[in-house]
Amino acid sequence: MNKRKLIADIKQNFMLKRLNAQEECDNFINTLKQDKEFKEIYDAYTKTNIEYLKSCYEKEDFELLHKAQDLQAKIATYLAQHNIDKSKLSPQYNCPICNDTGVVGGRICKCFLNELNKKISLNASSQTKFNAFENSNNQILTDNDKKAYEVVKTWCSKYPLVTKRNINIIGGVGSGKTFMLECIANEMINRNYVVIYKTAFEFNELARLYHCGKNYDFADLLTADIVLIDDLGTEPILKNITVEYLYNLINTRQINNLPTFITTNLSFDNILSRYDERIFSRLGNKNLSININLTSADKRIN
Ligand SMILES: [Zn+2]
Repeated sequence: MNKRKLIADIKQNFMLKRLNAQEECDNFINTLKQDKEFKEIYDAYTKTNIEYLKSCYEKEDFELLHKAQDLQAKIATYLAQHNIDKSKLSPQYNCPICNDTGVVGGRICKCFLNELNKKISLNASSQTKFNAFENSNNQILTDNDKKAYEVVKTWCSKYPLVTKRNINIIGGVGSGKTFMLECIANEMINRNYVVIYKTAFEFNELARLYHCGKNYDFADLLTADIVLIDDLGTEPILKNITVEYLYNLINTRQINNLPTFITTNLSFDNILSRYDERIFSRLGNKNLSININLTSADKRIN
């Protein structure tokens, strides 16, 4: 994985978080300013404070300082009278140490390092054991499957310039579904995307732990660049968990334009009866999904 890209991604996320916090704060103040009384005190305070700060460049003007302090006290009284939390007048950053800049005293803040380590370990865990397109054996593939490989290879090379972001790889036992999925994972990791690969069984377990508040890795599945779920249909159906979390995953990622791949030996009819209509319609949406049917049944490719 390219660490530089991870760092650039995190920096961008931090910047967005800062901008969001600042915008939220500005909006909040503007709402308060609809009250004339508050607007007057607040604008006077801002103006005086700027004048005071300017004075500090030459000779600190204590008169301005006291005036600003008086106005600040008036703001505090106003907020207390109206039961408003005064911390809301400043942007609410996630990290109070670095205010979401990722830097504190010229050093990288802990929150930034945590984020980076999380991304690196996510990616490292995905990098184990994957097969690559070069390892696929053309001689044992049916013509149908050769074409299927061309479709997914093209998808990988063109991404993100693709319109369909879900790929469903469908085929019986030994048809090489997992092999193809691993090739996609490998290719996209090489292209520096954060890829999460889970069997449907592992996915179910993550969802269960998340549901019980015991593990939060599930949230990463919603935001990773690429998510691949292998062998959908082999996991047990857990009440209030399997269907709900699977729908949440597919739906949230579709809304955010993030690719999700599944392999399964279920037909679409089976998907409808095993899960529900919502999952069926999300996976089966022809405008958003490519369906790959593998036919090299019972010929283990690897
Ligand atoms: Zn921080």
